[in-house]
Amino acid sequence: MIIEWKYCCFLCDNPVGVCVLVENEYEYMAYSHYRYIYNPIPLFMNLMYYKFINKRLRRVCVDCFMRYKPLGIGAIRDREIGKRRIVPRVSQSISSESLTKWIEEMKAFMYPSESDAP
Ligand SMILES: [Zn+2]
Repeated sequence: MIIEWKYCCFLCDNPVGVCVLVENEYEYMAYSHYRYIYNPIPLFMNLMYYKFINKRLRRVCVDCFMRYKPLGIGAIRDREIGKRRIVPRVSQSISSESLTKWIEEMKAFMYPSESDAP
């Protein structure tokens, strides 16, 4: 089983366009069971969208597409004089570390070793 992505989000650097490739029918059945029932993961936030940022077209995830707004001149002015603090935005999409950890747990689910069996 292979999980791959070609691009990363321009704003949050999380993978977009995630594709899971299975090699046989057993992996497909185990993947569908694991993906939707045993350990669900919300991959819909990692779909690839295009957004104009600084007059250029960039690849972004769904969360950055919906929630990203560039800073206004008033917010930058207030930050410069110390009037207010700008909290960095946390993206809701899945990071690459979480995706690799999830796929490792899926491999342990699909091919359990003899010592794990009850
Ligand atoms: Zn993003």
